[in-house]
Amino acid sequence: MSSIFLNHADVRNLLSGLGKSRPLDRTLMSGISFVAKSLNMRDNDLINGIWKGVPRSEVGVHVSKEAFFKLVDVVQKNDMAAMKNTQRLAMIAESLSWKPDALMNHLKKTTGHLGSNASLARPKLGAPMNLERLGILPSEKWRTLARMPKGINIAAGGTGSGKSTTMQVTVGELFGDYASGPVRLIVPDQGALRPLRVELDELHPAVKPVVLFSDELRDRSQFDFAVEAAKIAPVFITAWGDSAVTAYKRVVEKIGPEAKSLVNGVLWQTLVPQKCDQCGAFRPECQCKRKFTRFVVSECVTAAELEERIAMNLPSGLLLEVSQLVIEGKMRREDAERDFGSIFSDPACLIRSASLPKAGTATAQSNL
Ligand SMILES: [Zn+2]
Repeated sequence: MSSIFLNHADVRNLLSGLGKSRPLDRTLMSGISFVAKSLNMRDNDLINGIWKGVPRSEVGVHVSKEAFFKLVDVVQKNDMAAMKNTQRLAMIAESLSWKPDALMNHLKKTTGHLGSNASLARPKLGAPMNLERLGILPSEKWRTLARMPKGINIAAGGTGSGKSTTMQVTVGELFGDYASGPVRLIVPDQGALRPLRVELDELHPAVKPVVLFSDELRDRSQFDFAVEAAKIAPVFITAWGDSAVTAYKRVVEKIGPEAKSLVNGVLWQTLVPQKCDQCGAFRPECQCKRKFTRFVVSECVTAAELEERIAMNLPSGLLLEVSQLVIEGKMRREDAERDFGSIFSDPACLIRSASLPKAGTATAQSNL
């Protein structure tokens, strides 16, 4: 989701900024930089807002991820500096799915007196988001995989498990680490897909590419792209799966036998409803007016460990931990069964899992 909204003043800034010069080159990153500069924002703040934001503004026009990439595409493909104001406005408005006059009238009426939208302001300095704050464990193991110079890193989980957030935060950390050297973020699943080789040929040898698929891979060309990229750069993808093994198998099936040497590992996670800390009940029994919270149960499994699990017919390394959480009353049995299915109630599976090396947050002892 994107948290970015534009007020009247911001569209005016865009209009004049985009008319002043051109993106440095044809890469996605320089297109983003150019837009960010016109909005008086830092590249990373804009990227974070577009990708990781929560839409909060009550005024202005929302810039969805799709609209943003349309705009970046437009500034890359056109010499906006050579255009008249009205032409430039028409292109900006079109990216936002508005008619130019309607856009400006609406913004002037609702935000004309407000200046720049608060969603563009520099985020307040606090502790930066990191894997630990998200509750991802074991964070160091996953970080080690993510820092490998190449290979596919898979953030996996069910629908709404938070896997996309984890991936964005992982890549965000990577950018923090590489701050001393230039990094080029390549996002191949957005609109104008440029061939990877063209993208890489333009890279200075000192620039590290990081490839991020922000949506789950669907077609053959995306998988081919990921495979090619994984041979030279770290590649981040998300994959649906009710366990690390399921997600891994889905990816391997698409890539073929080559996958075994290309996949670094999987971070699998689920979000579990938490007991109310006031009354000790779960929803819907809890009637306290409190923010409904969930906690992360996750594990990080390397490709070699995944192969071992497949051989053992054991999809999850979290069964012992989850059993323990249920026994301690920290997790409802129905939530455990929803995420871990019938395997959860299969004692043989639990016994087998006890012999696994620790891959996750397993804090439970095998006292079942
Ligand atoms: Zn309560």
